[in-house]
Amino acid sequence: MSKNTFVDRYFKIEIDEHHTNIYLKDISWPEPFTPQESIKLITTLPKDSNEQAINQAIEDIIKNEEYFLTCSECNELNLSNHMFDNLLCKACANNNHGEVF
Ligand SMILES: [Zn+2]
Repeated sequence: MSKNTFVDRYFKIEIDEHHTNIYLKDISWPEPFTPQESIKLITTLPKDSNEQAINQAIEDIIKNEEYFLTCSECNELNLSNHMFDNLLCKACANNNHGEVF
């Protein structure tokens, strides 16, 4: 996944009167075939933040293990709550280790 696609998929930037708000998007499937998108405010920058400052804030969130982890087998970056454990994404746990969900 390219960097931009990745940012589009997981981040939402909203600028209001006073702030630039950076949200993390998470998609879950409480029921099969009905994806539900939830957004969570992660950080707030001043309203007049430039693109560089916004990108830096996004970079920091991506590097934060509380939010994102890299699978040790496929090297994909995943939302930490979508990982099977700290090392494996669910797809690898399933395909390579026979874990069933
Ligand atoms: Zn994986």
